Parts: sequence; C-alpha cells; structure tokens
Amino acid sequence: MPFIITDPCIGTKDTACVDVCPVDCIHPRKDEPEFAATTMLYIHPEECIDCGACVPACPVTAIYDSPESTPTSQKELVEANAVYRAGDAAAVAAAEAITQQHVQAHADLMAVAPAERAVAHAG
Ligand code: SF4
Ligand code: SF4
Repeated sequence: MPFIITDPCIGTKDTACVDVCPVDCIHPRKDEPEFAATTMLYIHPEECIDCGACVPACPVTAIYDSPESTPTSQKELVEANAVYRAGDAAAVAAAEAITQQHVQAHADLMAVAPAERAVAHAG
C-alpha cells in the first residue's frame, strides 16, 4: 500500500522526503515547474515501494504508511496523492482542487501550526 502525505505538509513543504525517496515518486520536486504553485507534495501510489524512508525524514510527521492508517480527517488527501501526476496540468489541478477543499473543510487544523497538526489528526 502506498504512503500518503497529509496536511502538516501544507505550510512546510521543505522536500526533505524527496531527498530520501529512492524511486523519485514524491512530487513536485523543487526543480519541477509546478513546485511554486502547489499547496503540498504528493506520493505516486503506483511508484511508491513502501520503503518507509520518507517517514522519519519529514519534520512534521505528515506521512502515513497506507491509506488505511491515514486518519479520518485526512482521507480526502489519499485521493489527492493518487491523482497528482508531475507534468500533467489537469492532474495537478485535480489534486490541488481536492487539497483546497480539504483546507476549506478543516479550518480547525489549518489554524494549528504545521508541526502540531499531526497530533491534532487524532482528535
Ligand atoms: S515509502 Fe519510500 S518509496 Fe514510498 S514515498 Fe516514501 S521514500 Fe518514496
Ligand atoms: S518532508 Fe514532510 S513536510 Fe517536507 S515536503 Fe515531505 S511531506 Fe511535506
């Protein structure tokens, strides 16, 4: 099962996970044109090899190890990770639309500092 990036990445987006991923399945990278405009990063579900390297690299605990382990409040972002495709404008827009819906639906979480958001997921 693929790993899933969730909302502590919003406002952090430091790409530490990109630097450790052995299969380059986390996008956008800083050198991709979509980077500036995207709200967070996304993991390609078919390319992720479930190695787990990204989890300890993330400074804000944004990454869960499967869709099943992703908290209820973050479930829509499972789909955002799934639809994002680097270099595909329509897919990027689709993922970002889901993420923006998540932001609007979870003002409570967005009001929490990114580093504290993962703790708030369980609440
Ligand atoms: S689990 Fe491994 S392959 Fe999957 S996104 Fe994380 S670092 Fe990349
Ligand atoms: S390491 Fe965490 S916060 Fe940084 S880009 Fe990756 S998922 Fe986002």
